[in-house]
Amino acid sequence: MKKPGPLVLTFTLTALGIVAIFAAFGGATRIFRRTLLSWASRELAARTELAARNLSEPLATGDFRRVREFAETCRENGERLTVMSGPRGLVFDSIGADAGDEGFIYETRPAGAYSVRLGLPLERTLAPCQAANRLFAFAGLASAAAMLVVFLLVYRQRVRIRELKRIERFRGDFVADVSHELKTPLTGITGAVDLLADGDSLPPAARAKLLAMVKHEAVRLNDLAQNILSLARLERRGDAADFADADVADIVAETADRLSQKAEAAGMKIKTRLPYADSGAVASCIVKCDAQLVSQALANLVENAIRYSGASEATISLERAEGFVRLAVEDHGIGVPEEHRSRLFERFYRVDAARSAETGGSGLGLAIVRSIARLHGGDATFSPVAPSGSRFEITLSAR
Ligand code: ADP
Repeated sequence: MKKPGPLVLTFTLTALGIVAIFAAFGGATRIFRRTLLSWASRELAARTELAARNLSEPLATGDFRRVREFAETCRENGERLTVMSGPRGLVFDSIGADAGDEGFIYETRPAGAYSVRLGLPLERTLAPCQAANRLFAFAGLASAAAMLVVFLLVYRQRVRIRELKRIERFRGDFVADVSHELKTPLTGITGAVDLLADGDSLPPAARAKLLAMVKHEAVRLNDLAQNILSLARLERRGDAADFADADVADIVAETADRLSQKAEAAGMKIKTRLPYADSGAVASCIVKCDAQLVSQALANLVENAIRYSGASEATISLERAEGFVRLAVEDHGIGVPEEHRSRLFERFYRVDAARSAETGGSGLGLAIVRSIARLHGGDATFSPVAPSGSRFEITLSAR
């Protein structure tokens, strides 16, 4: 069976502690109340006896004056006297009115000729209990609040520790990934340089090939370093402090223009789909953003389409919606197999490692895209295009 996490345990213990505090206070109140009641009923029994004795001589018919006077005295004392029955049946019922009221405790005593009932008001007998009740309730609430505060402090601390551990783990993974990424080009460069160093006998064509390989690997290393720096900068930044108004429609047009040659060389055409104003001109789409980063994210997506999709066309589209803008790069190429889709935006994740290595990809491109989108209060997502192809979307907050 799975062991409960420390937070679940702390929460359960806090909840149990609160219940235990209330149960203990509730129990203490009950015991206190019972003690007070037993004191009160002892006092009540003595007084009732007295009242019964006082009224034990038979009264003349209609001579209720004495009883009434006695009842009045009782009432002035805050007590209630009821003469329940006499030699001629019921004499008085509820002298003092409100007989049977819950706010009294009663003692009934048949003595001499009459049976009487004396009641003491509950608030008099139980006043200390009510005060204690309030005190206990207050103490209970205070302890519950204190326990909750302790729980929240522990919870916050645990969340912080968990976050620190996550960062620690992430750093470890990141360093391992980076080292792994560095190893392949460095091994290639070292091998080629070794061959070139003692390769006086190497034919010029082979030398040229080795030199080209060194250059290719060096470029790869440079790209990798740039990407890692980009990601690190994005991580460090984490806010939109220096965003400025920029026209995203301009960014789309400029990116399409900048990459059109590269696309053409790969046999691809880049199209744009922009919103139009009533005048027929492209509608501007002003958003507070870091234009350079948005352009970088869009370029990453277009370059991916050029490198991986195998399609003859890629379309960049821009849409403005309530509170955000949506940029998308869509192609009808090979698409991304389902089992890879959920991990596409992870650092160093590649669908086809061999093809990525060939094209110089490090698997950081989409991670950078997502970081940029998130920095802008949005996100980056992938959706497949039927019958085959990819659609990568970036949303940017436009508030
Ligand atoms: P890299 O930086 O190596 O280009 P990315 O993070 O940008 O890596 O992309 C991750 C993987 O997603 C790539 O290895 C590639 O296989 C796949 N991919 C990205 N865009 C497309 C696309 N338009 N069509 C097909 N596969 C793609």
